[in-house]
Amino acid sequence: MNVISTRGAEAVPLSAAITTGQAPDGGLYMPQSIAMQDGPWGSSLPERTTNALQPFFAGDTLAPHLAAIVAESLSFEAPTRWLNDDTALLELFWGPTAAFKDFGARFLASCLTRLFEPAANHTVLVATSGDTGAAVAAAFHRKPGIRVAVLYPDGRVSPRQAHQLGAFGDNVATYRVAGTFDDCQRLVKAAFSDEALTKQHGLVSANSISLGRLLPQMSYYVNASLTAEAQGRQANFVIPTGNLGNAFACLLTRESGLPIGKVVLASNENRVLPDFLASGKYEPRASIATLANAMDVGAPSNLERLRHHFSNPADIVRADWVSDEDIRATIQSTFTHTGEIVCPHTACGLAVRERLRSAGEGGDWIVAATAHAAKFAEVVEPLVGQPVAVPPALQELLDRATHAEPLAPTLDALSAALAAD
Ligand SMILES: *Cc1c(COP(=O)(O)O)cnc(C)c1O
Repeated sequence: MNVISTRGAEAVPLSAAITTGQAPDGGLYMPQSIAMQDGPWGSSLPERTTNALQPFFAGDTLAPHLAAIVAESLSFEAPTRWLNDDTALLELFWGPTAAFKDFGARFLASCLTRLFEPAANHTVLVATSGDTGAAVAAAFHRKPGIRVAVLYPDGRVSPRQAHQLGAFGDNVATYRVAGTFDDCQRLVKAAFSDEALTKQHGLVSANSISLGRLLPQMSYYVNASLTAEAQGRQANFVIPTGNLGNAFACLLTRESGLPIGKVVLASNENRVLPDFLASGKYEPRASIATLANAMDVGAPSNLERLRHHFSNPADIVRADWVSDEDIRATIQSTFTHTGEIVCPHTACGLAVRERLRSAGEGGDWIVAATAHAAKFAEVVEPLVGQPVAVPPALQELLDRATHAEPLAPTLDALSAALAAD
């Protein structure tokens, strides 16, 4: 299938959009059409995902490889665990870096390794607010002909996120930037705007706006909604949201014909999306730091997709926002009532789910659990009064030595670092 830009640039094949990330007119790529499908879907996550994604890849050079790409990249579980009669967590943190970013990063890496010329050298350049960098580093770690440069804001990610980001080595270079996430993102954008630098290092984007990351995020909504249906339930989803990538994948999944009911976004105190859906006016702001740091986004990048694709977004999705105080209270009450220890992002989703109940809304609700609580131990453990068990994949990274180079927030400093490495 060809894909189009939200700003009107000429349509290109899907694999071209996966290679370049962003459209040349500055827009975001979107599938030209969404095919309504009715199965049969199969029974496992990889099988169901391959079937659901197949129309998007039809006619593309990657089409014959789709099943293999899915099998090798989406090779871990995304179980739905019911906490009680009508509320479940969709656990998206069983990949190598314990957050849902592993689904997109690993799929993108599997696509790109098939699309790149074997002899070419590439540098995947990525800015991260915490989880993306580690997922991208893990996905491309030791891939021949590819190196990874990760930029994160020094002192603004959790201690375990920082450890993880510097724990790869080999073909991964990690830079701690003296600045904010916005500074990191600005640096990466400046690097991609510099044609000479882009050419010299074969710069490649692994930004969350890439369709190569967005499409595989449909996988767990396809799987969870079909599993719920087989149990006689209709899945409604609450999705903790920052840049709207994860939630947009859910909306695409519903549009593809999967049995999904309502979709509700949960923001933190960065309430641009709830405000936009309430007023119809988009007012981007500077982000503010919250306990759910991966959702500290003041200008959600995928909103451009939402506005382009749906003439009245408020008709298809709702949103609410959650304060740090509510995040803490929800982590505590969830532990008290269910014994479950959740991360601050997941807590935003659970807080919104409880508000729906209080407002008298029925139905079965599945909350996307976007990261493992162990990644945010310094927030969570004092609230629940006990240590959080660390999943084996995360423990393996935490046991390694870690190293990040300091970097000034300037393009000159980044060019020098890329040339020296
Ligand atoms: C990235 C991230 C989010 C936000 O996802 P978006 O796709 O940006 O909306 C939520 N929770 C965690 C743990 C994340 O890493």
